[in-house]
Amino acid sequence: MRIDIADERAAEILGDALDGKAPSKEEMRHLATVEGTDVSLSLFQVARRITEKNFGHRIFIYGFIYFSTYCRNDCSFCYYRRTNRGPQRYRKSLEQITEAVQSLDEEGIHLVDLTMGEDPQMVEEKGLLPIIEICREIKRRYDIPLMISPGVAPRSILHELARAGVDWYALYQETHNRELYSKLRIGQSYEGRQKAKIDAMREGMLVEDGILLGVGETPMDVVDSVYEMLAGRAHQVRAMGLMPQPGTPLEGARAPPIFEEMKAIAMMRLVHQDRLIPASYDVDGIKGLELRILAGANVVTSLIPPDRGLKGVAQADLDIESSARTAKSIMPYLGRLDLEIAGRNEYMEWVEREKCHIRRA
Ligand code: SF4
Repeated sequence: MRIDIADERAAEILGDALDGKAPSKEEMRHLATVEGTDVSLSLFQVARRITEKNFGHRIFIYGFIYFSTYCRNDCSFCYYRRTNRGPQRYRKSLEQITEAVQSLDEEGIHLVDLTMGEDPQMVEEKGLLPIIEICREIKRRYDIPLMISPGVAPRSILHELARAGVDWYALYQETHNRELYSKLRIGQSYEGRQKAKIDAMREGMLVEDGILLGVGETPMDVVDSVYEMLAGRAHQVRAMGLMPQPGTPLEGARAPPIFEEMKAIAMMRLVHQDRLIPASYDVDGIKGLELRILAGANVVTSLIPPDRGLKGVAQADLDIESSARTAKSIMPYLGRLDLEIAGRNEYMEWVEREKCHIRRA
């Protein structure tokens, strides 16, 4: 398909992408560096059209339950890092978690994302066994897809999580530049993190990977990450801009412009054409959702039930208690983009199909 922009090479790459031929890394490097508003706008338009070819005008929505804000790690970008005295720390009980799942279930959310820091009590004292129990109980009570983000977990635990019915394992690398990684995920093994994702897939779970923007990466680092996540066969890929957090080494950094995130989302869409790409509510609320969707995202994440004392990650309190982070509240905005929330069956079919592919591989 012909794309009408001045840079002929970019036009050809985008045209091929729209026809289903993902760009090579070399071609993506060209797209990442060529300048011009016409190229950027075409990149977003093509990414959006590829999304529609694969997912129609429907959006998936995820609820988020941050059930423990304790963490043994000291990631330089994270508000909940061990040495930060600012955050309110809590650990929700099984009953509190299932009540939150109940409200998300009633809202028609497609997936519940259960996230925790690497809580020393759960990881070191109890060997992550409590999360298996929590997941088993949720799956026993609710017919809802479940994602777990407990940090790096050993193969034996991943095996039990898969047996408990957990559908997704989320573990963000943040960057695939090892030097930068060592500055972001201080003292944590790069290989160990990558291996946990491979192990999770071997156990039959779908995997989400993701990168952080505005933390010293170069445009080529972003391109490398797009292809590293492809090599890792991630089912869901995410790019999120840094929100500088008080009490962290990156407190004084500048949040990257949303344009950078849109560009990363669009580049991911050109390559990961039929994968899921989130637009997080957590970064800058409803106003940023539309732009991220226009750049090729097809999942709205980080919806949080109000009145449960739950926190977000990038923005701990944004819009939670005003009930703005709910499925109902985002519907008018999706309508403006001629989009609607997909049925849960449609999402579950997607998940089951992908899990089937893993089992066959
Ligand atoms: S990003 Fe995760 S592992 Fe790192 S400090 Fe924050 S909660 Fe802990």
